[in-house]
Amino acid sequence: MNTFLARLALSFAGVVVFGAAAPAQVPPPARVLLESAAEAMGGLGRISGLNNMVMTGFGQRYNTNGNLSPDLNSPPKWVAVADAERSFDLRGKRALNQERQSRMFPFASSAGNNRSNTLQTGRATLDHPLPALLEALSSQTVLGPVRIENGAPVIEFTIQQGETLWMALDPQTRLPAWVRWIAGDSQLGDVTHTAYFTGYLPFNGVRLPAGLMNKIDWRDQITFMFQVDSYRVNVAQLPPFPQGGGGAGGGGGGGAAQAVVNKLADGVWDVRVGRNGGPVIEFDDHLVIFEPVGSEAQFFARLDAANKLVAGKQVTSVIISHHHSDHAAAVRGAVARGLTIIAEKGNEGLYREFVARPAVKFPDALARTPRPMTFRPVDGKLVLEDRKQRLEIFHVVEHLHMSNALFAYLPNQRILMEGDLSDVSWEWHWWAGALAANIKHYGLNPETNVAVHGSSALSIKETLAAIAKQVEAAQAFCKQNVAAGINFFGCPVQYNAEGPVRSQ
Ligand SMILES: [Zn+2]
Repeated sequence: MNTFLARLALSFAGVVVFGAAAPAQVPPPARVLLESAAEAMGGLGRISGLNNMVMTGFGQRYNTNGNLSPDLNSPPKWVAVADAERSFDLRGKRALNQERQSRMFPFASSAGNNRSNTLQTGRATLDHPLPALLEALSSQTVLGPVRIENGAPVIEFTIQQGETLWMALDPQTRLPAWVRWIAGDSQLGDVTHTAYFTGYLPFNGVRLPAGLMNKIDWRDQITFMFQVDSYRVNVAQLPPFPQGGGGAGGGGGGGAAQAVVNKLADGVWDVRVGRNGGPVIEFDDHLVIFEPVGSEAQFFARLDAANKLVAGKQVTSVIISHHHSDHAAAVRGAVARGLTIIAEKGNEGLYREFVARPAVKFPDALARTPRPMTFRPVDGKLVLEDRKQRLEIFHVVEHLHMSNALFAYLPNQRILMEGDLSDVSWEWHWWAGALAANIKHYGLNPETNVAVHGSSALSIKETLAAIAKQVEAAQAFCKQNVAAGINFFGCPVQYNAEGPVRSQ
């Protein structure tokens, strides 16, 4: 035990009856520790007397599992955060988060021309030490046991809304070192988030961190990096807060989902929830579904609809186009339903990671019905064929939105199905040659294209024409930016020379 804990334990032993008999290793109780943290931050009276605090700065957010490849050491994708201002109404226990986001990679459209204006309440406000400490000290909060992690005391506390969090104090400075909470995720089950606070400096008599960084317990991934460039406390007027509920987060995602079925050909249906979905293909004695897109609830809605299509035939396999969080969303759900996972061979390790993760706090179907994963790899090409059907599955070539992807093709019906090779709602397309390159590479002759994102099947001609327009829009966007001296990620637009679009 370090001197800080020993001193606190001793002072505590003097005032509480059972404390004197406690062994030296027992850390002081939560309240004593929290008050020592308040003292370190500027004094309990000072921090509990604050009305508000405004923080500005800049940073990056992790684009959740939009990694280039499924590999452990794949480059992640980042979203730049600029013009950020977070106004904490400490009395009202809420915050207003305003920021401009800009993807640091080429994608479908600009995300950040408008500044966000997000009301936060409950746990969503507690990834900063000042509101977190005040909430931990609140009379409505229930304090739990204290434990020691890497020499730092960790205080468990359950807030009024029912969520449990943990706060660690730096053993030397007594300042809050991190706050931790658990949220549910469709791909990853229970995800432990830790917000780290570093570089404390005094502002108007209050010590506040200059650096904020959040990590999750999947691959120790950083999800948020933020550098503060100003702190103001007790400002005369905060910006207007929007009405409505706060973003408390958590949960496996997805409310009630309605699946819509469209017959594409004999033994082939498009089954979709909203604008996301993919085909269901009939074989002699079973069905195969393309893409576990969306939330678990959305995938199950599609699966249930598929299982009603043909009397006596059930879905036994799911084909996953690629590993991104929206596409391979319900891998855990698919395994829980006993489906064989068909994916490009490089994804096996990642999907085994997904399936192995716990979901105790936010139990999903796999937590309730644990099963091992059956993985069928696609190594270049896989053909599913019986007397009724022939489905060809191919490794996607020459497409740099992601690697280790696949698409599928029904040669008899001339129907192609793919995820993220096209989406007619995209404003920009940066990989215009990819769809045409794959058709050419594998010598296919599709008539119809079914994209995972979109409202319905389109002809391949319509799809390629939409892509051509999108790449022209991306080229125009790059031209404007270059003229303004901005070299945007992805500019100038690159694409396969054999694609359908003329060179810029
Ligand atoms: Zn997508």
